[in-house]
Amino acid sequence: DPATLVTTVTVTVNSPDLMRELGLALAKQLRPGDLVMLTGELGAGKTTLTRGLGEGLGVRGAVTSPTFVIARVHPPLADGPALVHVDAYRLGGGLDEMEDLDLDVSLPDSVVVVEWGDGKVEELSDDRLHVLIDRATGDTTDEVRVVTLNGIGERWSRADLGSLTG
Ligand code: ADP
Ligand code: MG
Repeated sequence: DPATLVTTVTVTVNSPDLMRELGLALAKQLRPGDLVMLTGELGAGKTTLTRGLGEGLGVRGAVTSPTFVIARVHPPLADGPALVHVDAYRLGGGLDEMEDLDLDVSLPDSVVVVEWGDGKVEELSDDRLHVLIDRATGDTTDEVRVVTLNGIGERWSRADLGSLTG
């Protein structure tokens, strides 16, 4: 397997606003062709983070939790990649449905962000940013999240994920 973990960064995020800001900061590092996989239970903050990514990339349309849509394309407002936001929750494990989305066609010119994509979209790219969002243990406010960013593959050895902790 050529996909090797090259970098891990953990960030504590204390509010929804700060999760959006983490997305803004991460967006500065994203390039066309990047695949970002978001893992975390319902309400963890995957869509909130994606909202920040959309703002940071400067794309058209509000990032929402799609109810009936599996993938939404947010075109760039100026130069830069489109944001393709995928909620793969209702997708079967089979590759057929995933292939219908033509993510492989979109990926070179886009940033593709996938919620619930584990076991479904890894084949798209050997280079992936896996973002795991967990509720902090013992947090009575339910506003604290622990975000672990795992860069996989050569592309992420050239990113500066460490800057996200500052
Ligand atoms: P997911 O896409 O993972 O299901 P959402 O982003 O749609 O999650 O929703 C996250 C919910 O949790 C929102 O209601 C948000 O206000 C709330 N929340 C509380 N604290 C945080 C935080 N630190 N980061 C992100 N969301 C948070
Ligand atoms: Mg969501």
